[in-house]
Amino acid sequence: MLVEHVEDALRGAGLRVTGPRVAVLRVLAEADDHPRIDQVIERVRASGVSISTQAAYDVCEALTGASLARRIDLGRSPARYEARVGDNHHHLVCRSCGATVDVDCATGSAPCLAPGADHGFAVEEAEVTFWGTCPDCREASTTTEERSLTP
Ligand SMILES: [Zn+2]
Ligand SMILES: [Zn+2]
Ligand SMILES: [Zn+2]
Repeated sequence: MLVEHVEDALRGAGLRVTGPRVAVLRVLAEADDHPRIDQVIERVRASGVSISTQAAYDVCEALTGASLARRIDLGRSPARYEARVGDNHHHLVCRSCGATVDVDCATGSAPCLAPGADHGFAVEEAEVTFWGTCPDCREASTTTEERSLTP
């Protein structure tokens, strides 16, 4: 989604155009790091729009409900949000710092994996998350190992 189309996107999804909605969606459209709610709030406030924590949650709910944003829930870590919706992309997630990076689906359309047995379900989606260690954390751990080897 392009930042300048944020208001049209809200209207197109049947949502009233409000200052907080425009500000949050703009932040998500500009972000490529899947910000957590606290990061969204920080960036909205930095753009000069005041927003309460509750309002930010409400806006994110409205945006995900209208399929303008996607919430990425990864178990024990806080949810992250993005405005890249409508494609079947996946995420690479760092186990140590939580960095979340987009990766295109290798097979294309959902569901990209077929279960061995579908038990009569009509399968729509397979959620794929690649867990690992990001380059920064790998470098940090190599440095620590080198340091611990020094007598
Ligand atoms: Zn990391
Ligand atoms: Zn993503
Ligand atoms: Zn896939």
